[in-house]
Amino acid sequence: MTKKPNELGIIEAARALRARECTVRELWDACVTAAKEKNLELNAYLEIFEADDAAIAAAQERIDREGDAAPLLSGIPLAIKDNILIEGKIASAASKMLENYRATYDATVITKLKEAGALFVGRANMDEFAMGSSTEHSAFGSTKNPHDPERVPGGSSGGSAAAVAAHLCIAALGTDTGGSIRQPAALCGLVGVKPTYGAVSRSGAIAMGSSLDQIGPLTKSVEDAKVLFDTIRGIDPMDATTIPDGLYPSKEVSEKLVIGVPRHLLTEGVQEDVRAAFDETLKKLESEGHTLVDIELPTSGHALAAYYVLMPAEVSTNLARLDGVRYGHASRGDTLLEDYLLSRTEGFGEETRRRILLGTFVLSSGYIDAYYRKADAARGVLRREYDDAFEKVDVIAFPTTLSPAFKFGEKSDPISMYLEDIFTVTANLTGMPALSVPMGTVERDGRALPIGIHFTAPHQAEEILFNVASAVEKAG
Ligand code: GLN
Repeated sequence: MTKKPNELGIIEAARALRARECTVRELWDACVTAAKEKNLELNAYLEIFEADDAAIAAAQERIDREGDAAPLLSGIPLAIKDNILIEGKIASAASKMLENYRATYDATVITKLKEAGALFVGRANMDEFAMGSSTEHSAFGSTKNPHDPERVPGGSSGGSAAAVAAHLCIAALGTDTGGSIRQPAALCGLVGVKPTYGAVSRSGAIAMGSSLDQIGPLTKSVEDAKVLFDTIRGIDPMDATTIPDGLYPSKEVSEKLVIGVPRHLLTEGVQEDVRAAFDETLKKLESEGHTLVDIELPTSGHALAAYYVLMPAEVSTNLARLDGVRYGHASRGDTLLEDYLLSRTEGFGEETRRRILLGTFVLSSGYIDAYYRKADAARGVLRREYDDAFEKVDVIAFPTTLSPAFKFGEKSDPISMYLEDIFTVTANLTGMPALSVPMGTVERDGRALPIGIHFTAPHQAEEILFNVASAVEKAG
């Protein structure tokens, strides 16, 4: 059966456009029609944009004129997480605080995508300010998982993931501070990449934890992820933390990879069938000539605690400007203090307020040594441990999540929600690139739910990640 245009991936759609099997307009219409129809149920988009006729015409003309020389993203409709700025469009970070905020400039990634001729279907739903693992913390209602609407799509880039998985666009951008691209990718059956810290400009991404945040792709295939990553990456004068190519020594790797497996991390919490799928996937890789090596990452057990100290500290700092005076939802009381209190209490949701309080606490003078500085030291140790491990192995593997998608409300206790991030946060703390690629499905309530396998590579070694992920994809 041939696929409908909106069901294609980037490479497939680019080929179809060049073969004149469909036009840019038809591809756009297919995505937007599906989006309008399915969004009523899924709530993947906070807004579906009007067609940009000029951009559609320009993309078509470029493909007609340049053929294979035109960028692969020409005419490709994408979903953009609602914390990435597109000039003239609202960017609310799914918060009441920024409900009416209209971006005055393009994020650097958007500039690059526009140059490549990409089209934007709409703003994708997310957890407020990217804080969460389920998209239940959006101020505008949660997003449903297309594989089972009673379950979460993961988060915080849940809208982006659901939009791609339900074919309401061809691919999407998300942001990842502690797992928010990789975890929803795993729970929706997609490929999700958190690039090396500094590989992709953060200019125009609404900051959550500035030392952890990266923008990255959510796609239907590994090849698509590579196309999107190659388009948005690169040093940027607008973001001083972006890094030039070759900043980190590149590693010689052969086609057959050495895969490190920290089995000691898998003992608790990983559901039986997820673990079985993980073992099965590794076995397939081994049978294709890759080598498995047991490794120890002793400090990993503290990564989540360190993350949940450092991240709120940065959140409390980044969100301080949203006070109803300089930016954001404004409410007036009798005094200036009341203005702040009212604006921030009304503008921020519960989880956001929790993290601001936690972050302010760990940075306060009596506690900064006990909490923030300790967590920062742990971050350094984790990075050294990973660096040491990469002396012996090319990539490190574990399951992306402990379980498949969970049901709405199942993790209403914040700690149980935070535990979702146990495997993903370390890559953000160390700044290393990491990716999730589907490793089949497990059954819950009679439905097949996707799960993912997670790989971490040394800084700037995204290429190795794409190689190992392609091997998983091919092994099916
Ligand atoms: N789930 C994590 C958190 O809530 C990660 C969020 C993210 O990556 N943006 O902090």
